Amino acid sequence: MIGMRRFWAIALMTTALPGHGLAENAETVAAPPLAYVDCSGIAKQGGLLLCTGLPGSVLNVSPSDGKQARSVTIGENGHVAIGIRQHEGDALTIALQDTSLSLTASIEPREDPYRVIEGFDCDKVDARTQAQKDHAGRSWVKKQAAFKRFETGPGATTGFILPAEGPPSSPFGPTRKYIGVGKDGEPCEKTSIHRGFDLAVPVGTEIVAPADGIVTLGDEDLYYEGGTVFLDHGDGLVSVFMHMSVVDVEVGQNVRVGERLGASGNTGRTTGPHLHWAVKWRNPSSEDRRGDFYIDPALLLELEPQLR
Ligand SMILES: [Zn+2]
Repeated sequence: MIGMRRFWAIALMTTALPGHGLAENAETVAAPPLAYVDCSGIAKQGGLLLCTGLPGSVLNVSPSDGKQARSVTIGENGHVAIGIRQHEGDALTIALQDTSLSLTASIEPREDPYRVIEGFDCDKVDARTQAQKDHAGRSWVKKQAAFKRFETGPGATTGFILPAEGPPSSPFGPTRKYIGVGKDGEPCEKTSIHRGFDLAVPVGTEIVAPADGIVTLGDEDLYYEGGTVFLDHGDGLVSVFMHMSVVDVEVGQNVRVGERLGASGNTGRTTGPHLHWAVKWRNPSSEDRRGDFYIDPALLLELEPQLR
């Protein structure tokens, strides 16, 4: 077991090539691996591992806490991203199907705080009126449709940059309990986990692509999220940008790292201007979208920009 946050391990199986009767001065050809799996990345709860292998190889990913294993398939491009849950157990074993090859990554634990936010305007938290509920429902349908769309791209292999220049204000992970009163005088209470990384930027700050991707949603008016862009980086990884004042990209558009997506704002259910950047890990080899989850964007910024 390798106990490092920056993880790298390889397992491979080779055999010597049998004699080919090559001409005397022919170059010696190294035997290609019959099977291998090579993983690197950030081995921390909420992090991401990047594995390479022969296209089509299946990796069975088993958490040490006995939670359900997930199977991922190495793509045509020879790589696959493996998200690590916020509450993943202390190790993940990655086994190459139909072989005896496996790697075990020791997972660094997170310590996410629990916060109580009082004096909240409840009407800002929940959809309460019928019109608000309808708006939230339409927004939900658009988001679910976009999360079912998968594009090809470099995934996390090229690394990530910050999508806006500004100080981080809220990290990924804390549980927030909101307590407040609505316009009708009724008290309300709601608990949620912050699944994005917030940057405190004034309205109108340029938002750029943190990595290459294809736009799978561009909408100026989702109920909770406000102006929103989904950018699919490939390998199932999708960036979500919320509360934007301006959306400058359209669905299907190919965007390079650093290219403008729009401008930050204070739209949707917010308590002030900021950019909420979230990254969802989805398993492209599974039809079941309930197995997808958000990972910590700040950890992606630590990824080495190239695979070994
Ligand atoms: Zn946020």
